[in-house]
Parts: sequence; structure tokens; C-alpha cells
Amino acid sequence: MLSRMIKDGDIFIVFDLEWNQPIPGKEYDFDVSDLPGEIIEIGAVKLKYDNGTVFPIDVFSCDIKPEHYKVLHFHVKKVTHKSNSDLSRGVSFPDAYRRFRDFCGSDPILGGWGNSDTDMLKCNLRAFGMDDKIGLYFLDIQPLFSVFSTEKGRQRSVEFAVDYYNVPKEEMFHSATSDAKYTALILKNIFDRNKASEVLSVISSSSVNCDMKREYSTVGACCDRKNEALSLVSGFTGKCPICGEGFLIREEPFRIRKSVYALYKCPNDGEFFSRTRLKKNKDGKFYAASVLRLATQPEYYLIASKKEEFDKYGSAGAPVVAEESSQDTADGGQG
Ligand SMILES: [Zn+2]
Repeated sequence: MLSRMIKDGDIFIVFDLEWNQPIPGKEYDFDVSDLPGEIIEIGAVKLKYDNGTVFPIDVFSCDIKPEHYKVLHFHVKKVTHKSNSDLSRGVSFPDAYRRFRDFCGSDPILGGWGNSDTDMLKCNLRAFGMDDKIGLYFLDIQPLFSVFSTEKGRQRSVEFAVDYYNVPKEEMFHSATSDAKYTALILKNIFDRNKASEVLSVISSSSVNCDMKREYSTVGACCDRKNEALSLVSGFTGKCPICGEGFLIREEPFRIRKSVYALYKCPNDGEFFSRTRLKKNKDGKFYAASVLRLATQPEYYLIASKKEEFDKYGSAGAPVVAEESSQDTADGGQG
């Protein structure tokens, strides 16, 4: 799928957000699912691309005074080490966002660890009645790290990548500004320790338009048989959710345990990763839930690793072992 070519002088803005969460059980005068988190800090590093690597040239940091979730959720308090009085020292979200966009300048490539920050940013823009169109390309540095480390296909935390590259840990994690600084250093290490042409090629096939909807899903009707449940969603996975054109098959559907994986191609919109999960409701009826996602690097690695598993173990899948730390990804809410 689309790409954003990188040339000398291009600017990367690696950013990170911290957000507060609604207090469980508390009544709000709006639907909290529209605002799962209210941003309380924006941190960013500006890097310039030149001659095969990036150089940090500026830092942005802004605390925000929340309007909706004014009391720190205990989990956020624990992770970010912020206090309720810290919150009152910030500026309003609209003001902070304007300052951030001024810092970005025109046409940078945004970068971040995982894609939850762009989603949360859009959500907050809507909650404050602002235009949620960001109008920039976004590069997820987490899967980029996984491609260029021995950690292929695994989701790791910022701290894991910092240790991997022996970046000195001089600042605490989980402040937006320090996490943005660490993520920027990870990006620099990826460039410095690999062939620039290879890094650029993965970046241009992985950067996506922030405003484009990438994921489409459906849930099929309930029925008595597994195969019938699967066939009820085959219409959805058979054609492009954007333009309606019939898909070409790049990777034939294969099933591991309760999930069916495939890779399709729309002649107009590019390649889609597809996963359909077979589920059972409380009455013992079967139904299927399907997701189609415009494929970027993480989806290509996922389908390749699932196919490898399928070729080796068939539909039974790899024997399940209690894995030591699949929880390493639990960077979660506070980016
Ligand atoms: Zn299409």
C-alpha cells in the first residue's frame, strides 16, 4: 500500500501522549466510550533525515489540564507518577494541540510506538469539537523495531527496545516527553545499525495516512454448524470494503484452531490481511467475526508467521506453552 518516500531534509516528529481515564463506576454526562482517555501530556522530538540517518533537532513538551477526567485514575497515577495538582498546571487541550502542530511544521512524518496515540489524539480532537483530520503520514516504530531486531513479529515495549540498543536510561519511562525521546533514539538506532536503503524501504511501505480507515469488521449470524457460520461471512471477506471490487487471493485462507487467516489484494486499494474467528454463544450456536485490515509490515509478518505455524502443525496449531512474558507488550494505556 501507499507510501511516503523519504528524502534528505525530511522531518520526523516522534511523539507520545499520556492520558487520564474515566473513574470506573462514576457517572459522566457523555458516553465514556467516545472518550476512553483524556490527554494530559504531549511530548515530541523533531528529527531531521539526512544521508541515511536521523538527527534529533528539537524537543516539545506540553502539560494539559483535563476538562472531563479531572481526577487521576489510580492506574494512571501509578504509571506516570503524576499527582492531581500536576494536572491543574497545564494548558487547555486545544491550546496544546495548536502548539504541537506549530512545532510539527508542514508535512512531517509522525512516528510513535504502537498506533494507540494517533487514535487517542483523534478521539480527543472530536471530544473538543475540533477537526479530527490530522492530514499526515504516520509510522509505527514498534513493528519497525521488530523487523530490524531479532524480535520479528513480537510486540515489545519501549523499554525493551531501549535495553536492546543499550540506550542509557537517564530519564523515567512513562512521561510523554521522555518516552518520545527514547522512541526517537530507537528510530536513530534502527537507522544507524542497519542499511539505510532497507530501513527506508520498510518505512515507506509501513507509513500510513493517519486519517484513513484501515480496519473493517463484521459479525455473522448465529447458526448450528461451524462451516455454515464461516460461510456466512465469506461475502464480507470476498470483496474490498473500500471500493467493493472482488479480491484476488495472495495467501489462500488457512485455519489454525478457531481462526482463519488469509491475505487478499484489491486492484485499487492494495493488500488486506483477513482474520475470521469462529465463536460460540451461550446457547451453543456458532457465529464468525471477521476483520479486514489494510496490510502493512506487522500484518505481513503476522500472516507469514501464522502460515509457518500452519505448515508445521496444521490446523491444530503449535502446542500452547505458557509463555514467560507475552505481557511485555502491556505498555497499554499510558503509551
Ligand atoms: Zn478496493
